[in-house]
Amino acid sequence: MSAFPHAHYLKGAHEPPQFVTDTGAEVCFGGRSNAGKSSAINAITQRAGLARTSKTPGHTQLVNFFELEPGRRLVDLPGYGFAKVPRPLQDHWKKLLEAYFRDRNSLKALFLIVDVRRGLVEQDLQMVGFARGCGRAVHVLLTKADKLTQSESMAILRKVKSELARGYANCTVQLFSATANRGVAEANSVVAGWLDAPAE
Ligand code: GDP
Repeated sequence: MSAFPHAHYLKGAHEPPQFVTDTGAEVCFGGRSNAGKSSAINAITQRAGLARTSKTPGHTQLVNFFELEPGRRLVDLPGYGFAKVPRPLQDHWKKLLEAYFRDRNSLKALFLIVDVRRGLVEQDLQMVGFARGCGRAVHVLLTKADKLTQSESMAILRKVKSELARGYANCTVQLFSATANRGVAEANSVVAGWLDAPAE
């Protein structure tokens, strides 16, 4: 049984005026393209096809809103890391994300999806910077942990924790695997905790 049986896609937005009404609570998911963001969203919501919508052509460059229950949303941010993206579009995304992190009242936290084999890349740190700079909580999922041995993945967990601690206070990090169903319950409870946190 899904944790969120009524989860569904609401809409994709290219500009802040197209964002869904800013009430209730939402958690956004960001990360490098191919890091495993869609798989993580599907695993955490226990809804196999949910994040597929945001992969359909035309949706990948949008801020995609999913409603879990009335007033509780997940937001799938555009994946980054493709060198081919033209400069004007990169600039547009940067402005869009800055506006989203700065102005969105209902935004509780950033879930940053990082392929454990790659570790943090510059754009991941930029994303953490946007989020922490605007006082948003950050939780990092080091995903595809099934691809490494336990000792290898633990070493990367420690490294990422110390990299984040150097520049940004209060970020949490965990190992995760959508394929091996590892860390899913922990990630689910972090999402639920943020969505249920009382409004400030
Ligand atoms: P996105 O582009 O960040 O949304 O990434 P996807 O969720 O589409 O995943 C990209 C690729 O990585 C796909 O081939 C997935 O099957 C694979 N993948 C995603 N999560 C995992 C995982 O936890 N373990 C392994 N081994 N592969 C994964």
